Parts: sequence; structure tokens; C-alpha cells
Amino acid sequence: MADNLPCATGFSVAVRTEPERSPRPSFASAGSRTEVAQTVAGLRLRATLLHTGAPEGACAWRPEKAAVVAGELYNRCELRSLLPGVGEPAGDGDGDAQLVLALFDIYDLHAFRLLNGRFAAVVVAGGRAVLATDHAGSVPLYTCAAPGRVLAATEAKTLRTAAPGRRLTGARAVPGMRGVHQVPAGTVLDIGVGATGCAPHTTWAPPHSRRILPEDRAAEAVRAALESAVDARTGPGTPLVLISGGIDSSGVAALAARGPGATTDTVSMGTEERNEFPQARAVAGHLGTNHTEVVVPASELVARLPHTVWAAECRDPDIIEYLLPLTALYLRLEGPGRRVLTGYGADIPLGGMHREGRLPALDTALAHDMATFDGLNEMTPVLSGIGGHWSTHPFWDREVLELLTSLEAGLKSRHGRDKWVLRAAMRDLLPHETVTRPKLGVHEGSGTTSSFTRLLTDAGLPPPHVHRAKRLVVGELFQQVVVDGLHPDEVDLPAVVHRLDRREFVP
Ligand code: AMP
Ligand code: MG
Repeated sequence: MADNLPCATGFSVAVRTEPERSPRPSFASAGSRTEVAQTVAGLRLRATLLHTGAPEGACAWRPEKAAVVAGELYNRCELRSLLPGVGEPAGDGDGDAQLVLALFDIYDLHAFRLLNGRFAAVVVAGGRAVLATDHAGSVPLYTCAAPGRVLAATEAKTLRTAAPGRRLTGARAVPGMRGVHQVPAGTVLDIGVGATGCAPHTTWAPPHSRRILPEDRAAEAVRAALESAVDARTGPGTPLVLISGGIDSSGVAALAARGPGATTDTVSMGTEERNEFPQARAVAGHLGTNHTEVVVPASELVARLPHTVWAAECRDPDIIEYLLPLTALYLRLEGPGRRVLTGYGADIPLGGMHREGRLPALDTALAHDMATFDGLNEMTPVLSGIGGHWSTHPFWDREVLELLTSLEAGLKSRHGRDKWVLRAAMRDLLPHETVTRPKLGVHEGSGTTSSFTRLLTDAGLPPPHVHRAKRLVVGELFQQVVVDGLHPDEVDLPAVVHRLDRREFVP
């Protein structure tokens, strides 16, 4: 049993006024399944929990109220300080679901405004099903509701055979899946089970204002926030950090490895064509981590496209390109389920992908990215879940994200460097060449973009139309592995490419 992982990594939940059988859910995420069923204030609640051996803490039941939680909370101590009986030793009932339920007793759905975590949750109370994600929607949550029943699941494909649900205000419809909606990031949906009225409540939004701080104070604040985020994500057991040798992931590795006696594993992936192995090796050597290199043949990388879409349930070809090399790596990580930390997502609040130095353009790009990340599922734990692992991303910790987003643009682009404040925050922990190394995206450093492009140009698609063709391929894969429920191993990728309508690409 992996005691270092969350109690549950995913779920499928049905809340009904009348008993009814639920179809067996299908998840991309690996793990054991436990079925639970209970009557809660006259409603029938059935849940399938996806876990690695200890699902108890993922459910809290009482005759009149229940909570089911996938994922984990990072500000447990703070949250416990709000409960009566503080100071008593934590007993059996101290799983995250118990904590959420106890907070719900006090704050009702406003409890979700208090949580810093990576989770999806369902609370059943007083004829309502209350559905919530973390601030970033980093554990995707989908629902399909009709009068008398509310279904909710951490993977959309699980709801594909459900009887069509009705339109829900405040939720995003999933293309091709009638009545299936995604709960937006930082949102609680309060759904009446009998009548299916739906009220959305926003519990978090990215800051629009910018903070002005002197250089040293800004760097200290970033360092302190990141230290807390990494500490909250590493417990007993040796964490594994995915490193590219860039500043984001190396910074996470450095913080994970900084405690006396701390042991940290690091891993880098590359293809036979492209890799960042020397840069990652330099970081691992400096930090003294136990480092591994994984070479994925470029042909295998492209063959993981269906698995990536299956896990991320995303139709955006650029996002799929970022996630593809990570999917290939997660599928190659052997042994029992690992707790995996990454540097993913630092570029969004820091504007790292924006390579020109002008501040208005930087802040425009940043504000745009922070307003449009929702629904792309970039941070989904299902990606690592298909390999049986649990990933977590310290840069998207609620406090880190809020701080980084809110720093004025001149702290991000400064002294001729991108992500200056992060580089300054980490400079005493990493080699100088790592601190000053320019940004290289994982899709570039692994040759993923070029491999995917070659798949299409080798099939005769004219280069100017490649991006559009990628969009069509990813859309078709979404149809097959999410909407139609095909297993990714059954997808005929060459046939998907071959069937693209060439008339769309006449130059
Ligand atoms: P990037 O697009 O470079 O910001 O990558 C996002 C995250 O993916 C990084 O912070 C790392 O945790 C991870 N990553 C990127 N490149 C690699 C690589 N070559 N091997 C392992 N992990 C990587
Ligand atoms: Mg990189």
C-alpha cells in the first residue's frame, strides 16, 4: 500500500432519490476500487473510489450528511484550527473527507473558500449535492444531473453512458457528451437532487491587481511560499521530482532535497533524438539526488497520443503536446505508485513562455493565460494516474499561484531575464548555469512537437496546415477514447491521420 498517496485519487458518485443500479465506471486512472453505498438524509449515495489501498479517509458518512473527496488538502493544520476541540490528538476520523465535512458543518459550502488543495469533492446534505473542485480545478470534476439524480466523477468518460442530463447553469458543457458538464475551477455547484436547480458559487479567482515589492522582499516571499508548498506535498517517504534541468523543476527538486537527511529521487525523460539530460544531470549532481534517465523512442512518444487524450480529456493540441512526453514518462515509471512533484505551470503566472521583454505585452499574456486555463486539464492527476502514480504541482499551490500572479510584471522580466523573481529566489540552491538557463518547454526539449509534426507531414499533409491537422487529430482521439469509450491501445492512430479530409488542406 502506498501510504504516501492520497486516500482516493478519483471517484464516481451517484446521488439519487430512488434506488437504481449504476453502470460500472471506467477510469483511465489505475488503482483499486472500493464501492460504498449509504442512505444520507433519505438520498441514496453510491460511490466508487479509486485508491491505492486506504480509501477510508476519502469518505465521511453520517446519517444526515456525507462527503467524498479525491485528492488531498495542503493547509490541514490551518483548517483544523477552525474546528472545536483543537489540540486533541488527531484520531481515526482525520481524513480529508472528515475535515471537509466538519468544516461544512460550520461554514456550509463556504468551507470550500478555505481549502488549499488538489481535490474534487462531493458533499451530500439536506437534499443537495454540493460539487467542488480546488481553486485551479486541478482535479477535474464532471457531472450529469436530472431531476432525482446527480452523478459526479473525476473523469468525463465515466459518465458517457449515463442517461442525458439537463443543462446546468454555471458549468461547462463537455463537447459531444449530452448533459455532461465540467465543474469550473474554484467553483462550487450547489445542486438540488430532487428538482435539480443549480447554483454556482465562485470560491477562488486569479488576482487582477499587482503587488509592488522591493527585489529582495519579492524573492523572499516567493521562496517562502514555494518552501511551504513543497513541504506540504512531501510527507514520509522519498518523493520523486520530474526534472528537465530548467529553473522551475530544478527549484522544486532543490526544495524537496533541502532538509537534513532528506532523500529525493529525480528523473528526466528524453528521446533518442532530443533530450535535456546533461542539464538535468548537472542539477541532480549538485543536489545529490538519486537520478534516473528514461529514453523513450520517438515512435513510442507519438504512439502515446491516444493515452494522453484519454487521461487529460482535453481537445487542445498544444496542451496535448506539452502533456504527451509526461504521459510517456509516467507510463515508464516502474514499481509501486509514487508521489511525484513537478515544476509544471510556473510559466503561466510568471509569463515564462512569453519571450519578449516588454511589460505591457507580458502582463497581457499573463492575464490572458490566467483567465483561460480552466477546462484544459493541464494539471490533471489522471496523467500520472494511468501509470498508478500521484502527481502534484507546487507552482499551482493556491498561495504560490496567488503570489506569483500578483507580482508586478517588472519582477518577472528584469535584468534581461524571464522569470527573474523565481531565479532570484532559488539562486543559492542551484548551479549558476541552471539559475540563468533560458526556458525550454518540455514539448521542445523532448522533440515531441517535431515528432507529432512528422507524423502528419510523412502522411502527406502540407506543413502550413500541420497545426490545424493536429487539432483535428486530437479532436478525433477525444471522440474515440472519451466520448466513444475506446481504450487507447485499440486506437488506430495511422488510420486517424489517414482519414483526415485532405480537401481541408488544399494550400
Ligand atoms: P516545461 O514545459 O519545461 O515547463 O515542463 C513542465 C514540467 O514537466 C517541468 O517543470 C518538469 O517537472 C517536467 N519536465 C519537463 N521536461 C522534462 C524532462 N525532460 N524530463 C522529466 N520531466 C520534465
Ligand atoms: Mg523545460
